[in-house]
Amino acid sequence: MIIALCDCNNFFVSCERRRDPSLEGLPVIVLSHNDGCVIARSNEAKALNIGMAVPFFTVRGICKAHGVVALKGDHTLYRQTSRDVMECLGGLFPEVEVSSIDEAYLLLTGIQTLDPARTCLGARGKLLLSTGIPASFGIAPTKTLAKIASRFSKKDPSYNGVFNFLDHPAADDLLASLSVGDVWGIGSRSLERLRQMGIRTALDLKNADDEKLLKRFPIGMLRTSHELRGVCCHSFEPDPESHKSIQIAPSFRKPVTDLETLQSTAAEHAVEAAKTLRAEGLVCGVVQVSIQTNPFRKDLPQYEATADQRIEEPTDYSPLLADAARQATEKIYKPGYAYRRVGVVLGDLSDSSSRQSLLFSTRDRSREKKLMEAMDSINRALGDDTIKPWFTKETPAE
Ligand SMILES: [Mg+2]
Repeated sequence: MIIALCDCNNFFVSCERRRDPSLEGLPVIVLSHNDGCVIARSNEAKALNIGMAVPFFTVRGICKAHGVVALKGDHTLYRQTSRDVMECLGGLFPEVEVSSIDEAYLLLTGIQTLDPARTCLGARGKLLLSTGIPASFGIAPTKTLAKIASRFSKKDPSYNGVFNFLDHPAADDLLASLSVGDVWGIGSRSLERLRQMGIRTALDLKNADDEKLLKRFPIGMLRTSHELRGVCCHSFEPDPESHKSIQIAPSFRKPVTDLETLQSTAAEHAVEAAKTLRAEGLVCGVVQVSIQTNPFRKDLPQYEATADQRIEEPTDYSPLLADAARQATEKIYKPGYAYRRVGVVLGDLSDSSSRQSLLFSTRDRSREKKLMEAMDSINRALGDDTIKPWFTKETPAE
């Protein structure tokens, strides 16, 4: 398999510059909708050492001193631009897998008549011309290596935005120069345990012992190690049904049998998903809850069910979403089963700016908005879940 990852550069900033070309060359940052944290930076802003995800007030001084333009995120614009980018890529490559708002995997197998790097270089130019968005391309036999390749293509301007990892003569040296924490899918929790095993770079992980990895980590770590060796473990999936919903569905450590625990877990998942909702400026019209017993315990009675709870006025207000999750859970709950999983999907998403108010609405929208903004910014500043809505409580969910 030969794939390329196309990753738009400083995407939100590039969208803003597409709308207002006078921002070109200036240091620009974009702030999150809900709590004013930095969510995108132009290269000029990065050069001023403005960090990612930091609250604006901590960089206000630098911004003032250097004339940094700080813009509030316009997610409607970003989604529209993303659609244009993906449409353009769809016209250039036979198979496209959209993986996020500013990233897509492109299948190059089958169009090898040209050199893949030249194909991507051409695509990069056409994308810039037709959408105004600059992007970086990383070419490799696996998704994990393609991610790394796109990273390299950004670092050194002499690559012209395209880095080809296929048959690269210095592939191992490059992997040795990359910290293992910068490999796709390696979280901060795994990092410490990897260090204890002497695995510090991407090359160390590539050369790690399979059995030792399996002993210490979930299967995903072994997959990542194999992907670094060029063995494909994450398949290419064109056009997934993504970004039309936000979902959370972890398993319980211990089975749960009572309605109250299921309900409060569902409510907690809804509250968690609502953070993403607000950060992206969306509102939700339906909350879907699924409950399931452990399918591997054939000796136990099996049950699974899903229910929807529609919300009269689409909202991003955590207490309403949590309440809907509780109601949906109650609809499908049956006693006498050991539940292993409760999942929540926020669906029917739309832009919060375009939501319509019911004629006789009794809700105080501005109060709801202020409350959620306050909660999000305190949690962002002091760590997740410093404050939660009163109805969520500790549960055995992972
Ligand atoms: Mg990007």
